[in-house]
Amino acid sequence: MNNAALLRELHRIHIQLSDLRERLERGPKQLKAHELNVARCDAEVNRLKNDQKNAKVAVDQKQLQLKSSEGKIIDLRVKLNQSKSNREYQALRDQIAADEMSGSVLQDEILEGMEKVETIKKQIGEAEQTLIKAKEEMSRVQQAIRDQQGLLDGDYKRLEAELSTSEKNLPEDLRDTYGRMVRSKGADGMAQVEGEHCGGCYHTITANTMNSLLMDKIVLCQVCGRLLYLPEDRAPGQSRGRK
Ligand SMILES: [Zn+2]
Repeated sequence: MNNAALLRELHRIHIQLSDLRERLERGPKQLKAHELNVARCDAEVNRLKNDQKNAKVAVDQKQLQLKSSEGKIIDLRVKLNQSKSNREYQALRDQIAADEMSGSVLQDEILEGMEKVETIKKQIGEAEQTLIKAKEEMSRVQQAIRDQQGLLDGDYKRLEAELSTSEKNLPEDLRDTYGRMVRSKGADGMAQVEGEHCGGCYHTITANTMNSLLMDKIVLCQVCGRLLYLPEDRAPGQSRGRK
């Protein structure tokens, strides 16, 4: 196998490996987003429950106030009936009217408060539904990732084995350059020639460089430094006698 064919194969494997790595990393990121969403929905349910509790306490307090004010009015009416002077009678009547007025304000406030409690109750129901859906969605994604991860792991191991088999074919002089490029840039350490250009940085390749490639020499792009190789349909004419 000539250098061009070997590099083409190695590059393909590296590209597939880096694609697989990306896909393997995507799963946990997706899951993280779903976990955050569930936590957000959960916090919303708790916030609403707390609001509901406060609204109920406010209604209870106003009801107690109303009760005590009603008791007070009954007492005042008894005093009114026993009043001895016109002045006292008038003062008691004014007091009763004022207390009744504030009682009716309290009643309105209590009704409003009860409506608020009902509204929050509905909101809690909705938020709980949203939370259930978010949890279902999360476990669906979790399962999908688990299933996919298994397949990807299998592909990854197979490709790694394929890579190490292909790397055994590297001739001494190419091995060092290849190793250095792959260590520093991974799949980006190599590029196929496309037309008259480096497939990595798209700069034009000189005639000299092209000649070296056609002679199956080790050539780096003069601009981006990638290890270059020719495409299959432009394979070097003469292999160097290796398999
Ligand atoms: Zn280049």
